[in-house]
Amino acid sequence: MLRPSRIVALTVSALALVAGAAEPPDRIYVNARVWTGEPSQPEAEAFAVSGDQFVAVGTDKDVRALAGPRTVVTDLEARRVVPGFNDAHWHLPSRRSARLDGAGSVEVIQRRLVDYSRTLPAGSWIVGRGWMPTDFPNRTADRRYLDAVFPDRPVVIRDRDGHQALANTPALKLAGITRETPDPPDGWIERGPDGEPTGLLKEAAASLVTGLLPPLTTDETYQLLLEELATAASFGLTSLQDPTDVGLTQSETAAVMRAVEKGTMTVRYRAPLPLEVDVPAGQIAKYAALRDSTRDALVSYGFAKTILDGTVDAKTAFMLEPYVGGGNGVPMLSRQELNSAVADFDRAGLQVEIHAIGDGAIRMALDAYEHAAKVNGPRDRRHRVEHVEVPAAADVARFRELGVIASTQPIGATPDVITLENYAPLIGPERSSRAYDPKQFDDAGAIQAFGSDYPVYSMDPLAGIYAVVTRQTRDGSPPGGWYPENRITVEAALRHYTRDAAYASFDESRKGTIAVGKYADFVVLSGDILAIAPAELLETRVLLTVMGGRETYRASGFGGSPSR
Ligand SMILES: [Zn+2]
Repeated sequence: MLRPSRIVALTVSALALVAGAAEPPDRIYVNARVWTGEPSQPEAEAFAVSGDQFVAVGTDKDVRALAGPRTVVTDLEARRVVPGFNDAHWHLPSRRSARLDGAGSVEVIQRRLVDYSRTLPAGSWIVGRGWMPTDFPNRTADRRYLDAVFPDRPVVIRDRDGHQALANTPALKLAGITRETPDPPDGWIERGPDGEPTGLLKEAAASLVTGLLPPLTTDETYQLLLEELATAASFGLTSLQDPTDVGLTQSETAAVMRAVEKGTMTVRYRAPLPLEVDVPAGQIAKYAALRDSTRDALVSYGFAKTILDGTVDAKTAFMLEPYVGGGNGVPMLSRQELNSAVADFDRAGLQVEIHAIGDGAIRMALDAYEHAAKVNGPRDRRHRVEHVEVPAAADVARFRELGVIASTQPIGATPDVITLENYAPLIGPERSSRAYDPKQFDDAGAIQAFGSDYPVYSMDPLAGIYAVVTRQTRDGSPPGGWYPENRITVEAALRHYTRDAAYASFDESRKGTIAVGKYADFVVLSGDILAIAPAELLETRVLLTVMGGRETYRASGFGGSPSR
């Protein structure tokens, strides 16, 4: 627990420390290249930790001088140290699944599914996610590719964006899907020339199969959570903000609370509340009370989320002007509904997060925030727009003017086949030149928080940083980058993944930088990401992750030499 009144940061010959700290620090880390994220002391060589806080940041000489007989001193071997990464947009997956991201071919998809199936009880469902149409011959996913490796066991795999699923023949049988089955409302069953279902289930049709998957028990959810937390720590993540619009399920809430009780919650986790229309004032007051009672706890509440539009790839993002080929998409709420719901939650002092991808939806979100400020008066609100992929040029400055946070996904700037051959052609060159462009928000002086949108994309922050720094795929194409004028620096990306992400959850006084009095959340990296060539970001590994003074991940082989 941080007690700001008792902590005074001062700088004495480049050493910031707790004034009058009588006890020597628990731990000292020396011989490091520390990027602190603090403008007043951007670089340091060493820092000291007591309990869960930084108690000194400065030169090797000055910090070493604080050591007492029981202080553990670690030599970080001149490695780069940064504040713990904070993923501002991360979802707890609703079930275990094989990761099919970046598979690139049917053979790789098959191999990953077979490997994954060995971790499951015999005969149980095999679930995967993350494939793209381009992984399949002729870009056509078909059940026969799954039947080839699993002729008797049900398999269903979701695509990267969650708009379609591929089921194999046993899964279709269990769901009772035949050539006679009619398409459900809001979805369709893809059929081959012979009229037989191909296994591809679009939009709502996917739930004909996924609806059969048994819901996870609290024990299973807890196990899943532990796996996700271990992965997060291995990527240097010490904070996760989960904007799932329906909030957590009962078993998810129970699993998260169990992790806190057992001491296995290795990140600071910000949990979601649902923003809906016409919520009774009493319910909103309960949300505000939940926020107040969990402030600064490992699991905290404080914002409410809603989804206003879809995605560009599915032509469901709401655009001011039509897509190339027609259609604008449709917002999921009317202007009136959105304005009144946002004003209701805003009146209770709750933060609001709106998923808005198209310029039409982004404008509606900004208008709703402006309306709330008008009816409820001035306050430090920090409402957020999630994704903000294609803002109208005229709306970018409004983020700073209204104090609205742009919560963006750097990995989206990757010019993969879907981006170049579906996304960009749908919105045309003028809008593409401003899509997934983090630089426009930086140039406008807005606060921008980075997130991954896991499990849609990998949660690896270094992969996201690589994408916005190069605007190239992992193999370096296209040469020079996709709209290279929109690239940002590694340092700017780091800021968005640490300090700005903390600001986006009202936590900047407690975390987000390496500074005296803040939580000792930090990461030791194998390479100096502020000095290496961008391509080397992809080879950079996390060696050590510390959250609140406690090690949550250590790469095998990394000693961090003990030193006296
Ligand atoms: Zn999301």
